[in-house]
Amino acid sequence: MHEKEEHPTQVPYMLFADTEGQIYDHPEYQCVGRSGKDTVELKPEDFIPLPEGTDIFFLPERKALGLNPESQEIEELEDEFAVAAFVSPAHTQTYLSAYQTSSSRKSKLPLFAYAAVGWLDDRFWVTATRVDPDIRQDCDQFDQKVVKNNFKYLSKKWPENRLLQHIGHCATVYFCPAARNFFQYRWEAPLPTAPKCNARCIGCISWQPKSTGVTSPQNRIDFVPSPEEIAQIAVAHLNRAPNPIVSFGQGCEGEPLMVWETLLEAVKLIRKQTTKGIINLNTNASKPEAIDELCANGLDSIRISMNSAQKDIYNAYYRPVDYSFEDLLQSCKNARKHNAWVSLNYFVFPGFNDCDAEEQALTNFISEGNPTMIQWRNFNIDPEWYASLFETAPKAMGIKNYMQRIREKFPHLYHGYFNPGEEIIQKFLER
Ligand code: SF4
Repeated sequence: MHEKEEHPTQVPYMLFADTEGQIYDHPEYQCVGRSGKDTVELKPEDFIPLPEGTDIFFLPERKALGLNPESQEIEELEDEFAVAAFVSPAHTQTYLSAYQTSSSRKSKLPLFAYAAVGWLDDRFWVTATRVDPDIRQDCDQFDQKVVKNNFKYLSKKWPENRLLQHIGHCATVYFCPAARNFFQYRWEAPLPTAPKCNARCIGCISWQPKSTGVTSPQNRIDFVPSPEEIAQIAVAHLNRAPNPIVSFGQGCEGEPLMVWETLLEAVKLIRKQTTKGIINLNTNASKPEAIDELCANGLDSIRISMNSAQKDIYNAYYRPVDYSFEDLLQSCKNARKHNAWVSLNYFVFPGFNDCDAEEQALTNFISEGNPTMIQWRNFNIDPEWYASLFETAPKAMGIKNYMQRIREKFPHLYHGYFNPGEEIIQKFLER
């Protein structure tokens, strides 16, 4: 939590939607939330003003729930649908939207995050907390005209570069913040490389089997760019961008370690041409030896993705093909051996992460692996789909409480949402 957060004077009123998707605030009933598999009452300090760039959804086939202030009972609104907020980047959801699913429900919700949201004093309030002051993905920072013009200009300058065309598609079709920052010549730029993956994540955002009935928000890159194509884009960005970072491992690809030899050649090529900025790898960390080799040859930072530090909960979601949970810890150690920055890309599902068993497992992972940062990321998945992977939900302590306990246990650990740039890394690692 960065600057002092603003909270409402009371629990906001609940929101509900009609069949047209028109959203209304209830004149009396209060907003309630979901934690794990439970519907829970909320407190004013659980809410912050809705951050700009947040999307508000109505949830078909899911009935709205609210607290009747007179009976103090949580009640279902018969013919009204639930509403949820997909909070903007840099903010972590602390409670999910609460609803009663209709027995006739046919479809899963798309791969977004669904936080509880209410209305009070003429504005929306959401159960979330800002965990990173960095503005790189704040929606008021983008100028699509500049993005398009620079894409056109670079396409003429590098007509043969297939990776440029792929990133240009992501910036102009998916409005990917990292791709758009590349074309606005600043901050963190994407370097997708891998068509395949050695995990089978339930909620994979780049590939979904037909059987799930869920559409993946992005399509995977269908070629492996050459080290030269990668270096051409990376060197230009590292040399001209403020706080420059180039990152392998994007939402529009599989696992970059599946083509780690290409990454190694690219990293060597890049570092031959510039020493500026940070070369980062977002990864499932399944190949510790590859991580060792990459960090020995110029990779500055890695980000290890996990939904849990508990092996069985990790396996239930990631369904690893040819690696094990222990490989994540070994990759962390190998990177730290080379004084590389290691972030945990920690997917937050309120009611599943914030429990004693998870805290113990995460404590062990951090104590043994010595990562440098934890990124408290929102888990983009249909809450019931994820919860259905587990018979029961643990006793929850609350996400903000959990964050504070990890902060107190590991005062050296950097907390945030985004991959940090050179300034923060140098300060923290005394490089
Ligand atoms: S590791 Fe990434 S690309 Fe691979 S299945 Fe999981 S989400 Fe998809």
